[in-house]
Amino acid sequence: MRAWSAPEVPVLPVVGPPVQLHDTATGRLRTSSPAGAARLYVCGITPYDATHMGHAATYVAFDLLNRAWRSAGHPVTYVQNVTDVDDPLLERADKVKIDWVELAERETELFRQDMHALRVLPPDHLVGAVESIPWAVAYIERLQAAGSIYQVESDLYFSVSADSTFGSVSGLDRAQMTPLFAERGGDPDRAGKKDPLDCVVWRGERPGEPSWDSPFGRGRPGWHIECTAISQEHLGVDFDVQGGGSDLVFPHHEMCASHAHVASGERFAQGYAHAGMVAYDGEKMSKSRGNLVFVSQLRNSDVDPMALRLVLLRHHYRSDWEWTDAALWDAVDTIQRWRKALSLGAGAPSAPVVEGVLAALAHDLDAPTAVDVVEQWVAATLGTGGLADTSDQRAGHAVHQLIDAALGLSL
Ligand code: ZN
Repeated sequence: MRAWSAPEVPVLPVVGPPVQLHDTATGRLRTSSPAGAARLYVCGITPYDATHMGHAATYVAFDLLNRAWRSAGHPVTYVQNVTDVDDPLLERADKVKIDWVELAERETELFRQDMHALRVLPPDHLVGAVESIPWAVAYIERLQAAGSIYQVESDLYFSVSADSTFGSVSGLDRAQMTPLFAERGGDPDRAGKKDPLDCVVWRGERPGEPSWDSPFGRGRPGWHIECTAISQEHLGVDFDVQGGGSDLVFPHHEMCASHAHVASGERFAQGYAHAGMVAYDGEKMSKSRGNLVFVSQLRNSDVDPMALRLVLLRHHYRSDWEWTDAALWDAVDTIQRWRKALSLGAGAPSAPVVEGVLAALAHDLDAPTAVDVVEQWVAATLGTGGLADTSDQRAGHAVHQLIDAALGLSL
């Protein structure tokens, strides 16, 4: 499907350092050294409701990775899915009496607008679950050939015991896995399964639900196989980074890695990166709690999307944090101060800012430190009305280009 249009990214006069990123599977920082293009897959939305700040935080986090790689001189191939058929979407469509295709298209379009407003670089391939069904079917056939698929009534399950490396992404033991599996869409108690943790890869047709033809009968793919198939189609095995929110570590990313390992004998991804959860009113932002702050709502109330983005940048992507209105209004004021400093033209020396921001981002996407570096430059520049250092007449221009390219803030 169509992605959103790409914002212009200024070309910086310097090359950034190699990018180090925390890997969930090993718990350590890993330096990316892509031979050609860096290959990134980030799990996308299920389009049944508008983009909330939790989503925005995740996509801005991986946008920073995309930008850090580009600053370091690597082209990037970025793939993202849209789960445009799944239980929550069908349930919502049924509840609000709207066609599920229409609901998915409407919410996907709103997501594109939100991402565009936040200046998130679009994926090279934005792929819907529906359009990728042939790839999912072919992938299930590979898993069948590897002897890892069995049937329960009209559904097909993937046997986690087929993968000797199962558990290596999350590092969890079975006692930790089982409740998470149940909580996050799994069915550990279903009769007929060989192992409670086995996941569905093909869901046989149910009355009133959309379904597609396959060699396994009519039905639709499971969520995990959707991301495995799409990522493998566009990126192949052993791609650089599989990303998403931290609630995807298990079972979602664990299952994708297992599918790929069983089908190919190869490693799914070199590293796994996860963004923290955003809370509001003391609890994780989630549909079931009803405590969502929507990007589109704030945009419609004339909040500058760059202020929204700055709030996100002020939190390290791996931390869990709480959205507050005070933080938003503070970011609105900060953006005004930054604009004023940039408009002076001359200012405090820009070279240390360029170096500091690129170094911070290359070190596990440390956006809060990068923002601090810019703040210091703004304070120094405003403190002297731009006359501090006449040797840097074009400091404003250089910092403007830097924060646009590296932080995605166009001011
Ligand atoms: Zn996914």
